[in-house]
Amino acid sequence: MKTQTIHSPSYDSGLMERLLFRVAKKWVAGYSANDAISAAAESNAKGMSAIINFLGEDTTNAEQVSLAVSEYARLMGLMQEKGVRGCVSVKPTQLGLVLGYDFCLQNFRKLADKAKSLGQFLWIDMESVKFTEDTITIYLELLKQYRVGIAVQAYLKRSGGDILHILEYGGAIRLVKGAYHELAEHAFASREEVDQSYLHLMDMLFEAGNFFAVATHDSKLINAAVARYNGKVEFQMLKGIRDDLKADLVSKFPVAEYIPYGNQWLPYSVRRIRERKRNLILLARSLVG
Ligand SMILES: Cc1cc2nc3c(=O)[nH]c(=O)nc-3n(C[C@H](O)[C@H](O)[C@H](O)COP(=O)(O)OP(=O)(O)OC[C@H]3O[C@@H](n4cnc5c(N)ncnc54)[C@H](O)[C@@H]3O)c2cc1C
Repeated sequence: MKTQTIHSPSYDSGLMERLLFRVAKKWVAGYSANDAISAAAESNAKGMSAIINFLGEDTTNAEQVSLAVSEYARLMGLMQEKGVRGCVSVKPTQLGLVLGYDFCLQNFRKLADKAKSLGQFLWIDMESVKFTEDTITIYLELLKQYRVGIAVQAYLKRSGGDILHILEYGGAIRLVKGAYHELAEHAFASREEVDQSYLHLMDMLFEAGNFFAVATHDSKLINAAVARYNGKVEFQMLKGIRDDLKADLVSKFPVAEYIPYGNQWLPYSVRRIRERKRNLILLARSLVG
């Protein structure tokens, strides 16, 4: 009987999902907004602010997009109600960028209005390079009326120009290395080149003197930012990564923790697993065990 159950496809996929989620749980707060609020309250208790992300991307169904907008609006209200210090960070393709630029902008406006009414900041995540141009245009539209920030990826060869452009409008940038697979025509491939680019872009941001976020777990980049700290930098790190470093930084600098939640946890977790060989071993152990 036991053998039959193990070979049932539905049982296998359910089991596989549970095992994978056991690993993903390191980076993801859970399935519900309440799970995210609890994780955010923990970050706040450790002195960090929270940046909450409702997981989802590449949405091609308008109804799903509306659900994501409603979920974010509800989440922002919950943050206010529970006294959570922080804001949300949203992916453009979850708000319908695949379905159309205007549709996506309209959805971002709904969330930006909500954030404004609650006195909250709003971050826009950056996704794969085919969305970079539209994401920046949407961002600059929103920046006319709202307190918003945008992620810029150091691995993209175009990012120096993008940063200059965004800074012209006084934008707030979160500098990340970049988490997607991109072709060599768009992105630096080696770790050294990406790190060099990160340092160069960080220099540009320090020279401009606007508020920006150093979003990395890389000690050498963080040390470089600490050495030039000017009171206008926030360090941002992902939930479940380099907690030691967060504890170290938080006593001296503003630190925010990025907290994802929701049932679309797989693509996000795959990006985290790919980032580090040791995570593959963790995953393999969990599957075998
Ligand atoms: C707040 C925040 C927001 C982000 N937003 C975006 C975004 O909008 N768009 C985007 O493309 N990317 C985003 N990223 C992801 C980013 O692009 C990188 O993929 C990710 O941060 C890993 O790169 P790293 O800078 O930490 O450097 P790495 O060189 O990858 O890592 C440096 C060190 O950090 C630790 N570390 C890094 N990753 C892991 C891991 N998965 N598990 C365990 N340890 C790890 C290791 O000790 C490693 O040696 C964001 C990252 C952060 C922190």
